[in-house]
Amino acid sequence: MRSKFLNSALLTSFIILLLASCNSALTNKKMDDPHNKINELPDSRNFNAQIDNKQTALYILTNKNGMKAAITNYGGRLVSLMVPDSAGKLIDVVAGFDNVLGFKHSTELYYGATIGRYGNRIANGKFKIGDKEYTLFKNNGSNTLHGGKKGFQDVVWTVTKATDTSIALTYLSPDMEEGFPGNLHVEVTFSLSESNALKINFSATTDKPTVVNLTNHAYFNLNGTGSGTILNHLIEIKADTYIPVDATLIPLGHIDQVKGTPFDFRQVTTIGKRINEPNDQLKRGNGYDHNYVLNKHSQEEWVAKVEGDKTGIVMDVYTSEPGLQFYTGNFMAGKNLMKGGTKDNFRTAFAMETQHYPDSPNQSQFPSTLLNPGITYKASTSYVFEKYTGFKER
Ligand code: BGC
Repeated sequence: MRSKFLNSALLTSFIILLLASCNSALTNKKMDDPHNKINELPDSRNFNAQIDNKQTALYILTNKNGMKAAITNYGGRLVSLMVPDSAGKLIDVVAGFDNVLGFKHSTELYYGATIGRYGNRIANGKFKIGDKEYTLFKNNGSNTLHGGKKGFQDVVWTVTKATDTSIALTYLSPDMEEGFPGNLHVEVTFSLSESNALKINFSATTDKPTVVNLTNHAYFNLNGTGSGTILNHLIEIKADTYIPVDATLIPLGHIDQVKGTPFDFRQVTTIGKRINEPNDQLKRGNGYDHNYVLNKHSQEEWVAKVEGDKTGIVMDVYTSEPGLQFYTGNFMAGKNLMKGGTKDNFRTAFAMETQHYPDSPNQSQFPSTLLNPGITYKASTSYVFEKYTGFKER
C-alpha cells in the first residue's frame, strides 16, 4: 500500500518535472524565436473598454504588402507593427500589450503612445510665456516629463477617420490642462504606404499662446518584440552634435560634438558597442537617453537607420523635427507582462522620439516650441521598412 503510494507520488513528481521542463523549454523557445506567436495581432476585443467614460477600440491598418499597424485610441498608441523580415515573414517590432488595460496599468506609461502636450522634460515644472509663469505637475523628480501627470498617453482620443491604410485621431486638450495655457486641438494621423512607411502626422492649433512638442513613443525591437537585447542592433544617426544633460536629464544649455565620444553614430556601429564606457553623460542617462541635434536642411529628411541583427529588418527614420531623443530602454525593469507573455526587460527595446529639444520653453537658444493662435503646429515622422537591403550590403 505504502509503496504503491510512494510509486504514484514519484510518478506524479516525474510528470510535474517533465511538464515544467517542457514549459521552460517552450518559454525559452518563445523568447529566442522571432517567428513565434508574439508575431500575431492582438485580439481586438481586448481593446473594447470604457476609459474616462469613453469607448476604446483597436484599429488595424494593412498595406498591399501585408504590413500591418495596430493602433488604439487610448493614448493614440501604436500597439503592434508587423513588418516583413529578410525572409518575408511578418515580425512585430514594437513593444506593447495585447489588451488595453495592460497599457493603462503598466509601470512604464508611454508604450507606443502619442506624447504631449510637451514631449520630454521641462525643468522644475515651470516656464514663462512673456511675463506670465506657468506651473506644471512634476512627475519626474523635480521636472515635468511628457506632459505631466495625465499626458496625452492617458486620454481617449476621438477617431475621426479610419480606412484600411490610415487613421486620424483628435483630442481637445482644455485650457490649463496639466497647467498648460490654451485650448489645444490636436490631430494625429497614422498611415501605411505601399513602400512600407508608417507615417505619423501631427497638427495642433490653440486659442492662447502655449508650448507644444508632440512625438510618438514607440519602443522598437527589430528582432521582434520580446526577443531580448537591442544592444546588437546596428545603428546610424545623422547628427554631428547632441545635447548634454544634467543629472536630472535637463539640457545643460550647450550643444556638444559627438566626435570622439560614445554618442557618435555617424558611422554604422552597434547600439551597445560603447554604451558601458565610463562616460558622465552615459552615466546620467544610465545609457543613451539624449537628444540628437539632427543635421537637417529641409522639411522631412532621413535622419537615422537601425537594423535588427537577428532578423535583418531595417528601419529608416525620416522627420521634420530638429531633434531625436534616442533612448535605449534604460529604465525598463522587467516589471510588465507584455504581448506573448514576455517581460519588458532592461534594454530590450529602444525609442527614437522625433521632437524639439528638451526644456525648450526655458532655453531661448533652442528652436522655439511656442505656438500662437492663428498658426498651425505641424510635424511629421516616417518609420520606413523598405525592402530588405541591410547595412552589410551598402
Ligand atoms: C525619456 C526617458 C524616460 C522615458 C519614459 C523617454 O522619452 O527620455 O528618460 O524614462 O521616455 O518612457
